[in-house]
Amino acid sequence: MSDKWRIETQAVQGNYTPAAAEPRTAPICQSTTFKYDSAEHMAKLFDLDCADPFYTRLGNPTTSVFEEKIAMMEGGVGALATSSGQAASALSILNICSAGQHVVSAGTLYGGTYSLFANTLPKLGVEVTFVDPGLPLEELKKAFRPETRCLFAETIGNPGLNVLDFEKFSALATAMEVPLIVDSTFATPYLCRPFEHGADIIVHSATKYIDGHGTSLGGVIIDSGKFNWNNGKYPGLCEPDSSYHGLRYTEKFGPLAYIIKARAQYMRDLGVTPAPLNSFIFNHGLTTLPLRMERHSDNALIIATFLQQHAKVKWVNYPGLESHPSYPLVQKYLSLGASGVLTFGIEGGREAGIKFMEGCKLIAMVVHVGDARSCVLHPGSTTHRQLTEEQQMASGVTQDLIRLSVGIEHVDDLIADINQALQAS
Ligand SMILES: *Cc1c(COP(=O)(O)O)cnc(C)c1O
Repeated sequence: MSDKWRIETQAVQGNYTPAAAEPRTAPICQSTTFKYDSAEHMAKLFDLDCADPFYTRLGNPTTSVFEEKIAMMEGGVGALATSSGQAASALSILNICSAGQHVVSAGTLYGGTYSLFANTLPKLGVEVTFVDPGLPLEELKKAFRPETRCLFAETIGNPGLNVLDFEKFSALATAMEVPLIVDSTFATPYLCRPFEHGADIIVHSATKYIDGHGTSLGGVIIDSGKFNWNNGKYPGLCEPDSSYHGLRYTEKFGPLAYIIKARAQYMRDLGVTPAPLNSFIFNHGLTTLPLRMERHSDNALIIATFLQQHAKVKWVNYPGLESHPSYPLVQKYLSLGASGVLTFGIEGGREAGIKFMEGCKLIAMVVHVGDARSCVLHPGSTTHRQLTEEQQMASGVTQDLIRLSVGIEHVDDLIADINQALQAS
């Protein structure tokens, strides 16, 4: 029944229906462990013959509500919640890539993901080739090697705000027989459902719009259940796992093989588990996600249009503007809105950028996006200050660049604040 509901209904009512006298709200099960009566029942848990919770590192009832609800909203078969978005991205790849293997990724990535791919995965023996996602399909194919095991990209690049050409990337992944993993943090399941456009695995930083109130770090991996792991490249999923009495994930779990392996092996061994309280908060976040994403997107478009006409603004980068190079892809994949983040260039460069950021009164100076409250950042003097000017340019961070994460306040109050800060900078 619930998978026939529209996403707004799934967000509010999905995957939790209390029986008589049970709590109306899915409660916080703040318990490390769960009690059993028989050795036989416990043996089943350890053999993965039964999905009941037994230790919170491997699963928790509050976290399950969040996992199942977001899997439903994305149209996937299962999900694994993690302690941060970084943990979700790392596990999504480690689950199918080991030393000697290779990843192809769009180069337009969140800074933390870039660092994971450029520094940490290579130390574990997994090499990553970064590609320009705007290249034609045939050029992109050249980045692949026999040992490539996945293709990675963001739905809306952070901070470049380029929109992913799903048709091209899913055709590429299909041709190369690897799964397409998409970080859809900025789009959220409300604005875009990547599985409908050929993605195989989705990751989110729940820290951003899913929480939506700047309270908790978290992440999640969602499995479409559609990728064929039996193509000879993924023995870890198809051949016996000696750490589970020789079980074969694809044989035992069918379409759930990938997501169960991620939990049973990597969550077990690395322990990047969300706190039950955070899962409770993400459940609440999902409830209002559709409403908030509508307002974030509407406000961002109005502000982007306002900035375009302002004498002190040199350029505006918001994919929802008709003049943006990604606009055709927005029409195709983000028809409900282009989310809440935009960047713009201010006359007067670095100095004016710092003045603008300090001059905002309602809009807060914080290193965060996806909050109900609007935030501003001048990356050149803050997050990217350790980089040389050349490195800053290469990462797309010019000295005049300001990033706004537009919140859900009344847009007239935001414009008044932006206007006074521009006048004073
Ligand atoms: C913030 C972010 C991450 C990392 O998430 P954390 O929860 O901070 O670990 C990954 N991808 C994108 C697109 C992000 O914006």
